[in-house]
Amino acid sequence: MTVRSISVLGATGSVGASTLDLIAREPEQWRVVALTANGNAEELARLARQFRPEVAVLADETRLPELHDMLADTGIETAGGSQALIEAAARPVDLTLAAIVGCAGLAPVMAAIEQGGTIALANKEALVSAGEILTAAVAKHGATLLPTDSEHNAIFQCLAGNQISQVRKITLTASGGPFRTWSVEQLATATPEQALKHPNWSMGAKITIDSATMMNKGLELIEAHHLFPVGLERLSIIVHPQSVVHSMVEYRDGSTLAQLGPPDMRVPIASCLAWPQRMETPCAPLDLAALGSLTFEPTDEERFPATRLARQAAEAGGAIPAVLNAANEVAVAAFLDGRIALPHIAAYVEETLSCYAPPAPASLADVLAVDREARDKAHRLTESASIA
Ligand code: NAD
Ligand code: MG
Repeated sequence: MTVRSISVLGATGSVGASTLDLIAREPEQWRVVALTANGNAEELARLARQFRPEVAVLADETRLPELHDMLADTGIETAGGSQALIEAAARPVDLTLAAIVGCAGLAPVMAAIEQGGTIALANKEALVSAGEILTAAVAKHGATLLPTDSEHNAIFQCLAGNQISQVRKITLTASGGPFRTWSVEQLATATPEQALKHPNWSMGAKITIDSATMMNKGLELIEAHHLFPVGLERLSIIVHPQSVVHSMVEYRDGSTLAQLGPPDMRVPIASCLAWPQRMETPCAPLDLAALGSLTFEPTDEERFPATRLARQAAEAGGAIPAVLNAANEVAVAAFLDGRIALPHIAAYVEETLSCYAPPAPASLADVLAVDREARDKAHRLTESASIA
């Protein structure tokens, strides 16, 4: 048995926890190099005691003294701040599980790519904001990207052993979120508490709100555009409320391959951890007879305009997807703070896009500058409550 080294970026989050749950079941197979978190020193210290990484890193430097004290007797290195996060991500490992939420994960993902290793990418915002730059770096450094987002992992599995040139259409499935059946009038009354109750998946707050607005599927459309270059016109979205079919690939001969599984992120994460092998997971097997039926319906861009905005941003390309992503991150935070209504998330994203169209970025630094500027503009718009 060969022991493989792994770093988990965003170890304290939902995807981080699912990853570490799988690793804890086969601890003899893994050597943990870096575990990172934003500001939750207690949870990171607890994980560090359990998984014994070389280094535990907090992005929020102000919490570093606490982390340091909590791990003082362990010999585990501790570090804090954005530069330390990048340095930890740059330590050579067999596999990096990239599960930081938001564009905050972009620079660490790039640092991992530059090591030429294998990156299991859950952090979709990194790919949305810097798709061309990241995919070019993957090619340049001989790195491997394993899509961890369940839809993209499904597509990756459906493409195995086939040629992408033979693909007629790729269909991303969407649960439709908690408001799938709500009217426009009802959507205006949706509270953060209601939006945080996803019908099928248990996830971090940001992606759960993105699922409620369908921006999650919009971001995933852009993500798919970079991971599977078949052309945007061949990428489509279908609502599938049971979240059992995770996505589909249709070939030119009329065959459609789909990947099915329970709505548990440990399935796609396990597929990345074991790739190209398979591993056991504790996930309940699918019981299709008990489910009885799987249903599908079209998306409704009138009630959920986010997918239209994302498709337009992908078509525009360049810096525009980074603006869309940054504005969405700001608007989601404003909704969670109770400052704006749910339908205003997409409205503020659209308004930010209409007032800020920077030229295409040539480097990671350019993308980060666009991200900062777009956040600034979106902040000002939401704070001035320009949309009533
Ligand atoms: P989460 O909020 O539960 O966890 C996010 C992690 O990132 C935490 O460890 C947090 O400490 C860290 N983090 C947050 N802000 C940071 C910052 N500024 N700097 C450094 N670290 C920071 O999120 P999640 O649900 O686990 O999602 C993580 C990523 O995976 C997101 O991009 C999400 O879209 C994607 N994803 C999640 C799921 C899911 O089921 N949760 C499924 C598919 C894709
Ligand atoms: Mg997904």
